[in-house]
Amino acid sequence: MNIPDIIIAIDGYSSTGKSTLAKLIAEEYSFLYLDSGAMYRGVTLYALENGLIDKEGTIDEAGLRTALPTLDLDFRTDGTYIGDRCVEKLIRTLEVSSHVSPVSAIPFVRNFVDEKLHAFGKRKRVVMDGRDIGTTVFPDAEVKIFMTASAEVRAQRRFDEMKMKGQEPVLEEVMKNLLERDYIDSHRETSPLSRAADAYVLDNSDMTLHEETVWFQGLCQGKFGILE
Ligand code: C5P
Repeated sequence: MNIPDIIIAIDGYSSTGKSTLAKLIAEEYSFLYLDSGAMYRGVTLYALENGLIDKEGTIDEAGLRTALPTLDLDFRTDGTYIGDRCVEKLIRTLEVSSHVSPVSAIPFVRNFVDEKLHAFGKRKRVVMDGRDIGTTVFPDAEVKIFMTASAEVRAQRRFDEMKMKGQEPVLEEVMKNLLERDYIDSHRETSPLSRAADAYVLDNSDMTLHEETVWFQGLCQGKFGILE
């Protein structure tokens, strides 16, 4: 199946498998995959490493605002980089996960990340996942998908993924973090997580990855009139 040169926006709740589906689409149809959450995680790691978030979780917003323009955050083929340092593993820890939503709710942080995402989006043939891609970052994206799944299924998936990576997660903590992030992401003032009116909803609680890809093919066939 040949998909035209478009932007595909995949939004949804935490741990719904957005990046898994996005990566598969990118591989199958030669799209560039961009993980917008990694940018917010990168900013959060930077803030933690530079003492801009204290033990109570309070963010030094003035300090972060001053430091942000000097932050060299980038996507490379093997992951997210700060300067020449690959931080792909570090940004996936529960510590970063537990601070990322308050950091990403700050408007100047969103502007910083949005500028980077727009620069990548100029290329077209991009599949990007996040929380506000179809609503704010690329409101004209030709295909928008909004992913959801039950909290239990999501927590279990995230737990299994962390175990596979050699971490030692506690299921209750993983669940708590997911629900907290969902709440903050959906209730913040700037660009809250919400379904774009023209997004197709994919609830994958009881779906295999194969079924999800078949669903995606059907969506594109219907939308672009592709027959094969
Ligand atoms: O996608 P991921 O779970 O890695 O994203 C981490 C966090 O980054 C989210 O919980 C959310 O707070 C923030 N985020 C966002 N907008 C996006 C992508 C991620 O606010 N487009």
